[in-house]
Amino acid sequence: MQIEIDPNSGFCFGVVRAIELAEHELGQCGKLLCLGDIVHNGAEVQRLEKAGLRTIYADELVAHKGERIMFRAHGEPPTTYAKAQELGMEVIDATCPVVLQLQKKVKKSGETLKTVGGQIVIFGKPDHAEVNGLRGQTDCEVHVVQHKEDLTQIDFRRPIECFSQTTMSAQQYKAITTLIEERMQAALGTTDLPLKVHASTCGQVANRHESLAAFAKQHDAILFVSGQKSSNGKMLYEECRSVNPRTYFTTGTDEIAPEWLEGVEHLGICGATSTPRWLMEAVAQRVANIAKATTPRKA
Ligand code: SF4
Repeated sequence: MQIEIDPNSGFCFGVVRAIELAEHELGQCGKLLCLGDIVHNGAEVQRLEKAGLRTIYADELVAHKGERIMFRAHGEPPTTYAKAQELGMEVIDATCPVVLQLQKKVKKSGETLKTVGGQIVIFGKPDHAEVNGLRGQTDCEVHVVQHKEDLTQIDFRRPIECFSQTTMSAQQYKAITTLIEERMQAALGTTDLPLKVHASTCGQVANRHESLAAFAKQHDAILFVSGQKSSNGKMLYEECRSVNPRTYFTTGTDEIAPEWLEGVEHLGICGATSTPRWLMEAVAQRVANIAKATTPRKA
């Protein structure tokens, strides 16, 4: 069996930057708190926890007065920075620069829209940390929309500016904003609409779709390696499966079932923006061992 790891899979630069920052801090002090999982990949979190990283959640902050804490690539709302300051904590800010720019844009749009009774629409997952960080930038009316059914909360007669969570599908964002446009036209009876759609899906993710689909098509079967919590992982996995039905999801080496490999001559291994390269290599090694153990010996 030939095994190939997708050269374009693995950490995006925002995650690489956050992990390097954590490793640097751990190298200096041997311990560091992180607010939420530094990356949506259990195996990578465990690796860093062995080096001294400790993941805590917002309701635990108060128990860590004066300690050092990292804010991960997804970013945080201003209220979290204020809370950390109130508790005398030192913040190591690993917010991805792309997310930081997006937060600034949401803040600016919110200031303008508030003066004209407008609304901000964020296409994303309501409980995602990045969305939480974005909606916290403004006290303007914000609607988080994940499915077209969620559009009922919007008043289409009033001005709207749309943003997308960076890791959402650009195609789905286009579909949602087209619906918004159509409903505004119907509500206002004009094509001259008070609507602004900001292109805010991340290029690091958007550019992966085409190359990943091509990679998935080239192989008999695909092992998609990702943490369960990664929204980007779920989306890219579905994308692989839509072009190659023999796509299997695995979080690591333990779940690989020998039947997934039956009849496979060319196996592709790929992953999410939060999947470490070392984990895809470990999966490749495990597959090679299974293949070796199940290949009948020549007489
Ligand atoms: S997916 Fe893009 S925006 Fe999100 S952390 Fe990675 S580089 Fe930053």
